[in-house]
Amino acid sequence: MLLEAQNVAKAFGDFHAVAGADLSVDEGDIIGLIGPNGAGKSTFFNCLAGDTTPTGGRISFAGQDVTTASPEAHARLGVGRTFQVPATFEDMTVLDNVMVGAFLRHPHRRDAREHARGIVELTGLNSVAHSRARSLGTPGRKRLEIARVLATNPRLMLLDESLAGLTPTELQEAIKLVRRIHEMGVTIVIVEHIMEVIMTLTRRVLVFNQGHVIASGKPEDVVKDETVITAYLGHGSRRHRSET
Ligand code: ADP
Ligand code: MG
Repeated sequence: MLLEAQNVAKAFGDFHAVAGADLSVDEGDIIGLIGPNGAGKSTFFNCLAGDTTPTGGRISFAGQDVTTASPEAHARLGVGRTFQVPATFEDMTVLDNVMVGAFLRHPHRRDAREHARGIVELTGLNSVAHSRARSLGTPGRKRLEIARVLATNPRLMLLDESLAGLTPTELQEAIKLVRRIHEMGVTIVIVEHIMEVIMTLTRRVLVFNQGHVIASGKPEDVVKDETVITAYLGHGSRRHRSET
């Protein structure tokens, strides 16, 4: 077991954004996390990556209790996460942004640069390597976010709507990239509204609603599940919105 989250909760005052969620991830898994906006998916990721401390439950990663560990400790252990709203350094070049990630395992500038170059190439950012992050559009930013995290050599990547807001062609490219990263041996949990992404990439899906996992299983079974359909329909057209 690579990651085990048990009964994880995150309350903001009386509001339970995550209300007791379990997740077990084996090395090599590629798992989808779906659910309506506001279901608690990003907050759950925050808990899993140390960006927030859960108010309940336990999380272990690679055999260590990381429930209250810092984001840096998570990164060092091999948990990488992308943010739904890309956290790029606007005035730095794409390559320099990726170097920020690379420094985690390559303290020497030259090594970090070398490693970052490889990641920039792999993620298809070569042509914009020396452009400032602020000049990128949505697809470039999403890609850069993946590249920065990938540069930390994660064992587990938590992708939070990294494929949202792309054109159909860009989406196919992005799916290929995620598959490639998975084939490199990185375990993946992906939050995504686009069912095509979930259906083509994942083997197991968890459905989040109101802070709980309300269903899980193979993607083709989960989409037929009554409770899942109700949870989505209960939020009307918001299920098609790509970003919050
Ligand atoms: P999802 O990613 O599934 O759309 P989120 O985890 O972003 O859902 O949000 C779940 C709920 O928690 C939302 O109602 C959101 O407004 C609330 N929430 C998230 N972060 C905070 C916060 N820092 N303080 C208060 N409420 C929050
Ligand atoms: Mg979210």
